[in-house]
This record gives sequence, structure tokens and C-alpha cells, in this order.
Amino acid sequence: MSRFVILGSANAVPKVGQDNTHLLLETSEKTIMVDCGDNPIVKVTAAGSSILKVTDLILTHFHADHVGSLPLLMMGMWLEKRTTLLAIHGLETTLSKAKSLLELFNWQDWKEMFPVQFNVIPDEGMNHFIVDSECTISALPVVHLVPTIGLRVKFTGNRSVTYSCDTEPCENIHKLALQADVLLQEAAGAVKGHTSAEQAGRIATEAGVKKLILIHYDNRIDEDQLLSAARRHFNGEVLLGKDMLVV
Ligand SMILES: [Zn+2]
Repeated sequence: MSRFVILGSANAVPKVGQDNTHLLLETSEKTIMVDCGDNPIVKVTAAGSSILKVTDLILTHFHADHVGSLPLLMMGMWLEKRTTLLAIHGLETTLSKAKSLLELFNWQDWKEMFPVQFNVIPDEGMNHFIVDSECTISALPVVHLVPTIGLRVKFTGNRSVTYSCDTEPCENIHKLALQADVLLQEAAGAVKGHTSAEQAGRIATEAGVKKLILIHYDNRIDEDQLLSAARRHFNGEVLLGKDMLVV
């Protein structure tokens, strides 16, 4: 039985009660984290899982609100005496910067360090890079300020959830979101490399999704203002993503 939890829903600046956007996906075979901005260890634990159970970490792009706690997460796993393999997935540029970040902490000298495997996601075409008996996770590059991937998770029984990650409206977010049951769409605002709530509604309609969940927004903005902006162009169900919401 799979479970998809929003661990954090904030834009780049975390707020009280709203950590940077990161996600947890559990299947009977895998525990997959998407990004690790400000508070991943506490949030994974609060979601009833454990950093020792995490099998895969997807890094969507190399911005501090998405990878800033990578050294802390890795050190926590090591101090908790993890022994099992951790697979870290991302674009080549993301992974090479992630390695450089870890090297600043001399992680190769950590005694009895658990095994880590880096899996490069090519930056073109739809890549099905994680497959187990309950889900397939695919990535496509989206349009942000640095190389970034958006994700689509297809569960058995044909249910699917799309996570836009940080992107402005683009062709690939439409491909990722096409006929999805749920679209987790960033709504940081109408600026370069990002999407507004109103644009999110338009993407949801054009892609024919059933439910739209806004994420990566500023919780100081009036909730009704965000929701009504999204509803201007989308007639389906619209929710605001909140920390610890189960999708
Ligand atoms: Zn971000």
C-alpha cells in the first residue's frame, strides 16, 4: 500500500509551520524522499517513517531550499548507524554539486559510512528511473533558473501524481501532468522560473488533471486569494498543500 506525504510546502523561505517543499513516498518496497531543504530528518520522523528506511533520495535541482540539508541528512543517517544502500537520483550537474557539498564535510572519511549510489538522470526525454511493483517514477526537465526536473509517479491501477517542482509554465509540465489524478503544482508567483496560482489553474485545465494541489507558496498570502486565483481557470478540486498532508 503506497502513501504520499507532503513533508514541507513552503517556497524558498520557510515559515512557522511551513518548511521548504519536500515530499515522502512510501511503497511496500521503497521509501523515497524528494528533496531535503530545511528540516528533513524531523519531518520524515513526524510522518511516521525513519531516515534509516529511506531507500532513494531524488534531488530535483541544486537550490538551497531543495538540497540545503543534504549534509545534515547524510550525517544523521550515518550517526544513526545506517548500513543499507542509499540511491541518490538527479541530473548530472545536480549530483556533481551535491558531491562537492558533501566533500566539504569530508564525508569520505566518515568511519563505516553506509554505501551511496549516485544515479544520473539524463536531461532529455521521459526517464523512468525508479520502478518497483507499486509505482514508476518518471522525470522530465522543466524550466527553472537552474537545470531542474519535474516528476510523475504512476501507481498500479493507473493512478498518478505529478510534482511540477520549481518551473515556469512549459511544455514538459503539460506532458508530466497529462490526465494526472493529482497535480502538485508550485505556486511561488508570476516571476521568471516560477508559476503563479492563476497559471497553475490554467496548467491543470490544459493537462486535464482531476485535482490540483498548490505547493511551494508563501503561507503569509491569504489562502482564499491563492485558491480563487487557481479556480479562475480550473473547475476541478483545488487544495492548498500543507505540511504533513497525505496526498
Ligand atoms: Zn524552490
